[in-house]
Amino acid sequence: SEYFLSRPIYAHINSDAMRHNLERVRELVPGSKVWSVVKANAYGHGLASAFEGLKTTDGFALLDLAEAKLLRDMGWQGPILLLEGLFSQEDIFLVSDLHCDCVVHHIDQVDWLEALSEAKHGASSHLPKIYLKMNTGMNRLGFRPNEYKEIYHRLHASGYGISHMTHFANADYVDRSPSVDEQAEIFHQAIEGFEGDRSLANSAAVLWHHHMFFSDWVRPGIMLYGASPSGKYEDIEHAKLQAVMSLNSKIIGIQHLDAHESVGYGSRYKTDVPIRIGIVACGYADGYPRHAPDGTPVWIAGPNGLADGKVCRMAGQVSMDMITVDITDMPHVDVGTDVQLWGNFLPVDAVAQSAGTIGYELLCALAPRVPRTG
Ligand code: PLP
Repeated sequence: SEYFLSRPIYAHINSDAMRHNLERVRELVPGSKVWSVVKANAYGHGLASAFEGLKTTDGFALLDLAEAKLLRDMGWQGPILLLEGLFSQEDIFLVSDLHCDCVVHHIDQVDWLEALSEAKHGASSHLPKIYLKMNTGMNRLGFRPNEYKEIYHRLHASGYGISHMTHFANADYVDRSPSVDEQAEIFHQAIEGFEGDRSLANSAAVLWHHHMFFSDWVRPGIMLYGASPSGKYEDIEHAKLQAVMSLNSKIIGIQHLDAHESVGYGSRYKTDVPIRIGIVACGYADGYPRHAPDGTPVWIAGPNGLADGKVCRMAGQVSMDMITVDITDMPHVDVGTDVQLWGNFLPVDAVAQSAGTIGYELLCALAPRVPRTG
C-alpha cells in the first residue's frame, strides 16, 4: 500500500550490472555455456529482475518447481535445471510438463525416472535431461564415483540424455582439501569414456580455476550479483564485477548525545565524548544482520548525494526496524539524508565481513517487506 511504500527503504536492482556480470563470465570461460543460478528468489534479487538482466544466459538453474513455473510464465523457453529437483514421484510429471532438466543425486529419483520412462513407452523426446551428480568430496549430494557407473547405465538404458556434474567444496580457498584439482581429477576419471556434457564450475571456480579444466556448462550464482564467493570485497574489483543490489534508506531521526550516555537496546554503545547519532530506517526485520557489531560500515550521503558520501560506523545494537550510526563528523546530515546499507558504494561483502558472515546470506535474507525497484 501507499503507507507501506512511504517507509524510505528500498532495494534497487540494477539489471545492467547483472548483464555486465554475465558478460564477465563469458569473457572468463568463453567456450562454456552458462547456467545462471537464480535459486532463492535469485539470491534475494527477485526472479523477475534476474530474468530481465540475464535474458542472454543459456539456461537458468534453480531449486524448486514453483520458481521454474514462474520463469516459464515470464516467457522463458530455454533450458531450466532443477538443482535439487525431485522430492517425490509426482514431481517428475511436473518436471516433464515444464520441460526442465533435473539433477539426480539419490537412488529413489532413479527409480522414479525409470517409471516415467516406462510410462512414456520410451518416447525419449519428452524425457527430461539428466544431470547426474557425483560426490567427489563435497559429501553433500550425489553418488560416489564407484556407484556412478551403474546409475549412469541404468538411466542411459531408460532412454535419458545424461550430463555429468559435481560441485566443489573449496573453490574459494587455496589451501583446503579436497582441492578443486583433486575433485576435478576424481570426476574426470570416473566419467572417462562416457558421453555427455560436464558441469563443474560455480562462481569461485569460474573466477579462479577456469584454466585447470573445461566445464561445458558453468554454474555461476553469486558473481552474477556482483558479490564475492570468498566474502572478500577486494575480489569484486579484481574480477571487474558490479554490485547488482543497492539497499538504500534514509536518516529518519537524529540524537545528540553527551559523554557517558549510551545508545539503544542493552546500552551496548557508550559515549566517551559528545556525539551525533543518525537513526536509519533499516533493521533486522528488513534482513540487516542483527549480529553486526559496533563499527560496521554504513554509507552516508555527502552534501551532494550518495556518490559524494562516505563510510560511517554503526553504534549500538541493530533493532527490528532501525540501526544507529555515528554521524558526528557529517554536519550536513539531517532527517531525509540518503543512506546505503550495501550496494554500488559499499560492497555487501564489507558489511558481511564485519558481521561475520558472507554476502550470499545478506542478499538472500533481504526481507519480503523491502520493495525491490528496477
Ligand atoms: N551449483 C550448485 C549445485 C549450487 O548449489 C550452487 C550454489 O550454492 C551454485 C552452483 C552456485 O554457486 P555460487 O553462487 O557460489 O556461484
